[in-house]
Amino acid sequence: IAGRVGDDLNIKTYVVGGFVRDLILETENWDIDLMVEGDGIAFAEVLNTYFEGQLKLYHKFGTALITLENGQSIDIVTARREYYEYPAALPKIEKSSIWSDLFRRDFTINCMAIQLNKREEGKLIDYFGGLADIKNRKIRVLYNLSFIEDPTRIFRAIRFAARFNYGIEEETQNFIQQAITQGMIAKLSTDRIRDELLYIIREKSLLNSLLIMEDLGILKGIHPDLGIDDGFAESYSKIEDTLSQFKGVLREPNPVLLTIMLMLSNFPKEKLDEVIGLFSINKAWANIIYISLSNRNEVYTKLREDNLDKYQLYKILHALPEESIIYYYTDCKNPYIRHYLMFFSVKLRDIKTFITGEDLLKLGIKPGPSYTYILQEVLKAKVEGNIYTIEDELKLAK
Ligand code: ATP
Repeated sequence: IAGRVGDDLNIKTYVVGGFVRDLILETENWDIDLMVEGDGIAFAEVLNTYFEGQLKLYHKFGTALITLENGQSIDIVTARREYYEYPAALPKIEKSSIWSDLFRRDFTINCMAIQLNKREEGKLIDYFGGLADIKNRKIRVLYNLSFIEDPTRIFRAIRFAARFNYGIEEETQNFIQQAITQGMIAKLSTDRIRDELLYIIREKSLLNSLLIMEDLGILKGIHPDLGIDDGFAESYSKIEDTLSQFKGVLREPNPVLLTIMLMLSNFPKEKLDEVIGLFSINKAWANIIYISLSNRNEVYTKLREDNLDKYQLYKILHALPEESIIYYYTDCKNPYIRHYLMFFSVKLRDIKTFITGEDLLKLGIKPGPSYTYILQEVLKAKVEGNIYTIEDELKLAK
């Protein structure tokens, strides 16, 4: 349809970027970026008569966005012709609009286009070797200053490498390192770093991404105390072992959170706050990481005490997230503590009283602070294995 609209308006029309990459990779992608060599606004208006989506026009930039009912979006940009000044005596060179548009992009695999007009429908435009890099599974920038110009591309390189399990081409790695040496990551706002890190976290294989980031000096570029050592991959596989040991015992501990905890495990406590936010999708995540790491030694000390009874054990551990249990079980060498963690998870963690305040009211007990006491005593008896049924609970409450 876009090609037909382009033909009607006599405008060269292309689909560009991630959509083309994913088409070649035969991966689903419903975010379509169109580029037109002509009036993008007029093009978008006509195109939307076919789709009847929500149309937003940005006259100043000559761009438009059509959002369809199913959430799919079509971005339309107008490409401009640009002059490129080459050093030395070479003349100014006027490049075609599509070339200029593609040259502004990040990696070769992301800067291909497919023409949509009828006469050349389906023609792949690949000025920078994107197809070859897809074949060779490489992330490659177009020019050496790319990361200096836009340091978010450092994180984008990691993201795409992780997503497709591609390598980062060697020269591109050097350019990344040069940009970091020049302090380019520090020039990004914390919010932008967080956004980019979260995109990376959402991709699969966070472990690999972290290893690459460490290798290229990106972690240190984010925060001088941040980093992973040679034993990190091994610790990660221990976490995986623990996860499989606890399978079916805990509900769904989040491996991503555990990976982040592992990375921050030796981070100075007083500086934890500074970095946790960067790696957290939301406040809940940040809390889980903070609680697990900052309570670690206190929990170990409490669990080291002799002759803990079931209720004491329950009280020490029941408010902790599942991830803390997994993390402590992996981290702590003491077999007694590990035993406690497993015993608690299998036997005690899910214990709750059947009865609530409403039942106490029905029993004719006057509402007040005694409710907390009664419910706690019922819970204690239950954790200790002295009562089982709701009738037992009601009897004890009374
Ligand atoms: P995703 O599947 O994650 O959406 P995408 O390739 O579509 O991948 P977007 O972030 O949506 O990524 O960007 C769309 C296109 O815009 C990219 O394919 C790339 O060509 C270009 N682009 C985005 N961000 C940058 C950037 N920082 N520098 C250069 N080009 C960029």
